Amino acid sequence: MHFSTIISIATLSSLFYSALACESCSGSAKKLHRREAEGGEGGEPAFSYLGLTGPVDWNQFEGAQACGDGKTQSPINVVSTMNTTSAGDIGDYADIGASGFNFTNTGHTVEVFYRGQPAVLGGVEYELQRFHFHTPSEHRLDNEWFPMEVHFVHQGRNDPNRLAVVGLFIDTNEENTSDPMMRRLATLLQSIENPGDTVVATHVPLAGVRTGITGAKKYTYPGSLTTPPCTEGVTWYVSNTILDVSIADYKIFKRVLGYNSRNLQTGPGKQNVVEFAAQFLPAVAERAAAKKQKRTARRFAA
Ligand SMILES: [Zn+2]
Repeated sequence: MHFSTIISIATLSSLFYSALACESCSGSAKKLHRREAEGGEGGEPAFSYLGLTGPVDWNQFEGAQACGDGKTQSPINVVSTMNTTSAGDIGDYADIGASGFNFTNTGHTVEVFYRGQPAVLGGVEYELQRFHFHTPSEHRLDNEWFPMEVHFVHQGRNDPNRLAVVGLFIDTNEENTSDPMMRRLATLLQSIENPGDTVVATHVPLAGVRTGITGAKKYTYPGSLTTPPCTEGVTWYVSNTILDVSIADYKIFKRVLGYNSRNLQTGPGKQNVVEFAAQFLPAVAERAAAKKQKRTARRFAA
């Protein structure tokens, strides 16, 4: 077996479980929740996609204010009239061979730490850092969502602060087939079903991804990381090449990933959705207090 090494990462597990514990947290637990807010698409803070620690709460993390007031947040509804790029873009990643790269269940996603592969996007040289999956898709295409989305996260070769993410949608298909990368990773997923598990991913074919980046039409816009701290200044490229996944493989991914998709944001330059909602909260609270007072008054009158 190529994937025999399973490593339990205690730190990642504890972060995950503190995120769960924080569903009902307050006081000191809330402080822990805030202190752990570092990372983003790789650092893995104790955020969740559920209720009170879900996306509406992410701006409570230290350094993650952009989640609640940033004006170029991701994901968005990509519309076919947006700017596109294709000429000169290269995502020339080699297939992953026998030595392999870590494939980790981080508690928020499953991620392959495949570093150093070259990419040229919008004339800028980048290096691949890692790629991971979301279910359902985070972006939409002309308001259509997809069962899954994969994100290839790149860092600038000359400027490490420069980030670019390529997103590819993943969908089921009439032939019920899987792109070879999806088939291989679905097989490996059985080894990393729990947060903190890692397997060495070997022999992962990436031809579908190369096609989906090099030469394909990609919608580009200025956005952010889609996890805390929601850092802005990320150049997004959302490909119109859609990767295939069979129903059986999709169900494997769905079972391990659960729901890990941030809600749609408003688009470059528009008001943040959290900030927009928050401006009405005082009025909502006032109405609720007035109703309560009325009910109490009625009870005493009766
Ligand atoms: Zn992502």
